[in-house]
Amino acid sequence: MGIIKAKDVSYQYIRRDEEDNIEDVNVALDKINIEVEKGQFICILGHNGSGKSTFAKHINALLTPSEGTLWVDGLDTSEEDKVMSIRQKAGMVFQNPDNQIIASIVEEDVGFGPENMGVPTDEIWERVIRSLKAVDMWEYRDHSPNKLSGGQKQRVAIAGVMAMEPECIVADEPTAMLDPLGRQEVIEALHQLNREKHVTVILITHYMEEVVDADKVYVMHNGKVSLQGTPREIFSQVERLKELSLDVPQVTLLAHELKQAGLDIQDGILTRQELIDSLPR
Ligand code: ADP
Ligand code: MG
Repeated sequence: MGIIKAKDVSYQYIRRDEEDNIEDVNVALDKINIEVEKGQFICILGHNGSGKSTFAKHINALLTPSEGTLWVDGLDTSEEDKVMSIRQKAGMVFQNPDNQIIASIVEEDVGFGPENMGVPTDEIWERVIRSLKAVDMWEYRDHSPNKLSGGQKQRVAIAGVMAMEPECIVADEPTAMLDPLGRQEVIEALHQLNREKHVTVILITHYMEEVVDADKVYVMHNGKVSLQGTPREIFSQVERLKELSLDVPQVTLLAHELKQAGLDIQDGILTRQELIDSLPR
């Protein structure tokens, strides 16, 4: 079994009135099947309201399925006595860096998680050093987090999760509030952790550009997985992506339009260089 496995996972948000009668049922997840292998870099794409955050919250048992089963490293998230172990295996990074930073010095912030877990002091510092170096924030260790840029804060938040040594990191739109440089820094930090520390990464985003280097992409729509495949397989379906209200990367769109205009270009162009190389000479 993969490190994350969702089998027919459905989730309904249920609103009740004062007498406990059901007022409204919102189906946020509808029979989701996703399997992530250890060490993979996976992206989940989808427009607002497609169910991405609801799914992310299932991975560390903040929510449990209304139907179906979700396993993290073989542990069923519905079993209450497994919740602590599940949260140690699956670390979360959220959208707003300001809500995730607690301490007034970077290195203390990163040490907070392992300290809470009861890790011995010597080892906490080793982990803080390793994690800050891994996200390229070591030189800021004695800075105050509130003076950092959004991208730097988000990398500190990622280091804080890393210091707890999870098997997998779930990052729910970690770049949504960042400028283009900050976005690039954060995505690169996640890829580096995946490559060098073999941490499984699940990146949730609505920026198509960020999924280009993923091992596999799932596209969500109305609580369902409506497309899945390699980035190239996904980007080959420009018309379908438009139907799902996703913005196709400019270079992919341009290649698609050139092809429709009659040029002999392959489907699923992901980078400028690929487009240049594939243009007929
Ligand atoms: P995404 O992260 O892709 O934007 P969400 O998982 O946040 O999507 O939301 C999926 C659906 O569930 C949406 O229709 C949203 O309105 C609904 N939803 C999310 N959170 C709640 C909540 N706390 N109560 C009721 N409905 C919710
Ligand atoms: Mg969301």
